[in-house]
Parts: sequence; C-alpha cells; structure tokens
Amino acid sequence: MARFMFDAPTVIKTKRDGGRLSAETIDWVVRAYTDGDVADEQMSALLMAIFLRGMDPDEIARWTAAMVASGERFDFGDLSRDGKPLALVDKHSTGGVGDKITLTVVPVVIACGGAVPQAAGRGLGHTGGTLDKLEAIRGFTAELPRDRIRRQLCEVGAAIFAAGELAPADRKIYALRDVTGTTESLPLIASSVMSKKIAEGTRALVLDCKVGSGAFLKTEAESRELARTMVDLGTAHGVVTRALLTDMNTPLGASVGNSVEVAEALEVLAGGGPADVVELTLALAAEMLDAAGLDARDPADTLRDGSAMDCFRALIAAQGGDLSVPLPLGTHTETVTADRSGTMGDIDAMAVAMAAWRLGAGRAHPADAVQSGAGVRIHRRPGEPVTAGEAVFTLYTDTAERLGPALAALDGGWSVAGGEFSCRSLVIDRIVP
Ligand code: URA
Repeated sequence: MARFMFDAPTVIKTKRDGGRLSAETIDWVVRAYTDGDVADEQMSALLMAIFLRGMDPDEIARWTAAMVASGERFDFGDLSRDGKPLALVDKHSTGGVGDKITLTVVPVVIACGGAVPQAAGRGLGHTGGTLDKLEAIRGFTAELPRDRIRRQLCEVGAAIFAAGELAPADRKIYALRDVTGTTESLPLIASSVMSKKIAEGTRALVLDCKVGSGAFLKTEAESRELARTMVDLGTAHGVVTRALLTDMNTPLGASVGNSVEVAEALEVLAGGGPADVVELTLALAAEMLDAAGLDARDPADTLRDGSAMDCFRALIAAQGGDLSVPLPLGTHTETVTADRSGTMGDIDAMAVAMAAWRLGAGRAHPADAVQSGAGVRIHRRPGEPVTAGEAVFTLYTDTAERLGPALAALDGGWSVAGGEFSCRSLVIDRIVP
C-alpha cells in the first residue's frame, strides 16, 4: 500500500521547498531506498534538499529510528566475562583529520575492564575511517558475523566491525553522501552516527564532536547543537550518551593517512606518541569508563605498563591481522621544507586532509579502493621550532602523479612565523543529558 501512497519526486520537492517530512514519509523513503525502490539519484537529490533545508528535531529523531529499523539490532546484554556482565561502552567521532583515537582508546578501555562493540565506518569526505586504517594491517578483517562479535567481546573485550546488516540504510546513504557533497549536514551526521550506535548494542556511548576547519561542522555553535542532538537521540533510545567537544582546527598527532596513523597509534600504545593523541585518548577513555560505571584503574597506567598494547595485539590477531608484517608506505614521496626559521604556526587540518585524500588515502567514488600507504607525516607541529631548509612534511603515495595535486592542497595551509604561539585547548566542553 505504501508503495502507492508515496513517491520519491514528491518527497524530494517537499523538502526542496522547505517543508517537513511526516513520520510516515520518512519511514517509507528510508525503507524504500534500503530495498532499492528509490534510486540513488533520487536519494542524492533528497540528501541535497536535506542538506540545504535541514530537519527539525522530530524529523531527525524519526529519520534515525527509520535507519535503525532498516536492519538488525544487536543485544549483548546476556554476555559476561569472569562471571560479571560486560560493561558495554563505545565511542564515535564525528569525523576528523589524523583521528586515530579509536585505535588507542579501545585497547585502553579493554585494559580497564570495559567491553567495546564498535560498528565502525570507512572514510567519509575528507576525513579518514577507522576501517580503512585497520585494513592497512595485513589480514585484518572487519566483516564479522554476530557470533564472532559475541565471542570476541567475551574473550578479547572488543570487536571493531563493518556495520553490515546494522542500519543498512546508513551504509547506502553514507556512501552516497561521500560522493554527492552532502556530508556536512547536522541531521545527516546525527542520524548516521546514532543509527549505527543504537543498533550495535552498546549500553554507553561517548561522542567526540569535532570543532574547527577539519570538522564537518566548523563552528562551535554548530558542533554543540550536533552534540546535544546526538546525546538526546542516544538517551531516548536507552543508551547512556555523553559528548566531548574537541578541537579539530589542526590535525591530531603527526600523521594523516591509513598505515601512517596505525603506526602512530602503536607508538602511543607503546607509551610514546604525540601529546595531543595521548591527551585525547585518556580524556575519552576516562569518560567511557565513567559512562560504563567502571571505577577502575587509571587509564594512563595501561599505556605505561603495556597492558593496552597487549589488548590491541589480541584484538588485531582475533580479527586476522598480522602486526609482524611491516605496514605499507607509499613508494613515491615528496618532502616539503621550511623556507625560513621560526616557529611552526597553525597547520590547517583541512589542507592536510585534502593533501592526504589527493595522495590516495580517501575515495572520490564509492567503489574506489584507498591506498593504505598514502598519507602525510608532519615533522614539525604547531608551536615547535623550525630551522630554514628542514623537512616539515613528507608525503607518501603509490601514484607519482598524485604528488603535484597533494602539494597544491597543502600550499597555504601552514606557515612558519616568528614569536610566540598560543595553543588552543584540545577538549573544549562536555555535553551530558
Ligand atoms: N561518522 C558517521 O558515522 N557518520 C557521519 O556522518 C560522520 C561521522
């Protein structure tokens, strides 16, 4: 019957002209698109209309619920470890540059007694995706059947998996947004993140809402609204949800790309690594443990004593990854040097993201494969002294012709200045229900 009550052109025109989509219309269009009865070009037009016109809170809530209802919903409430119910907790970032925090925070949380069921995504727009990063590790698979996720949660303490049949509407819409210029939309980000997180079966969730040039939503006001929307959506679906607003004007850490970020995560797990990656890992871990009701050990100890590294190795091995195989690195490189001495100023996250993307770390078409070894290493971070002639960035790719466009993307995105440099705080605020 719904087939004859609704049609895609009318839905598109309603939103295009600034109207509201009714609950029934939203249920229909999300289901029909998932089932292939609404075409990609029609959903693309609707996404652009949503991008331009927005959605009110009721539309966002219904769109999210329809995406959750498009597939399965996991429930791990019956699982236990050492006779105790699992403390299920996850984190999700709204998308950043150099954001390898899942790779560091998940093992820290496991080592502190948490269990992390994480449905993760691939790169979206200029931002990297956790699955693309982990797939830089030889043999790693994110395609995990439910039984394996259950077993891994009990035996290893986490599973990081492709959403698969969880919120399949998001899988299709996410891929379409990536190539239709519709990523930077509050309703579409909130529903994408929260549909996966509600469906994956976590009990508690900490959102890392990025603010700044490398974020999808650039201003603090927009990110605050996104955080509040997602916290409300999670709470309404029975998930203990909180958010941290964090700075994304400059890339996180000193590497942007897939394998280069895995390498940096390993440095952090070995007790070293860039200070900002360590700081954000520990801030999110503390929030996750608190949200899960775990009053355990100090998360920083797990980086010092190697227990987080042990948990990471166990997790990667459980998913078929072989960390003894060297991580791939692009065979063609270019070095950018400083033309004057001074202090490294701000490095624009978007410029570095676009350079990494042009090197092959991201996709221009849904079917594109990413280059695991493509990326950018940042040798001088904001505030560090620079000497004229020294290397400040190294670019890696397997395709020599990509180097020119990547250098052009980086151009103007950084500068060396004289005088003092004032650092911004990494964690800007905390949003709770
Ligand atoms: N992460 C997601 O899962 N979806 C978005 O839209 C942005 C970040």
